[in-house]
Amino acid sequence: MRRTGWLSASRVLTVPPKCVVRKGDTVVVIAGKDRGKSGKVLSVSLRERKVTIEKINIIKRHTKPNQQNRQGGILEREAPIQISNVMIYCATCQKPVRVGSKTMTDKSRVRVCKKCQQLIESPERA
Ligand SMILES: [Zn+2]
Repeated sequence: MRRTGWLSASRVLTVPPKCVVRKGDTVVVIAGKDRGKSGKVLSVSLRERKVTIEKINIIKRHTKPNQQNRQGGILEREAPIQISNVMIYCATCQKPVRVGSKTMTDKSRVRVCKKCQQLIESPERA
C-alpha cells in the first residue's frame, strides 16, 4: 500500500508564508557556514525546499579536461541550501525579517515585512 505519493503532493502545495522566497529576492543566510551573508536568489525549488543564492554555498568541482574545457581544473558553482536557512532581507529595516502577506484592494496578495509593513518587491513579477 502506497499513500506517500498523495501525501508528498499535498505537501508541495502547502508552503508556509515564511518560506515564500522567490527568484530575484535578496535573502540573508541565517544558518550554516555562510551565516550572515546575503545574496540574490538565483533559483527556488519548492519541491526540495531549497534555494540557490548568488555566491553562497560555493562548491568546488574538479573537472577533467574535455572538449568544452580544455584546461580542466576546478569549477566553482553555487549549491542549493535549505529554504529554512534563509530569511528575506528588508531594505527598509536593513535586516533579515519575517514575511507576512496582505491582500490588496484588487484581491492580489502581496508579501510584506512583518516589522515595518513595507511591501517586499517581487523583481521577477514586475
Ligand atoms: Zn521591514
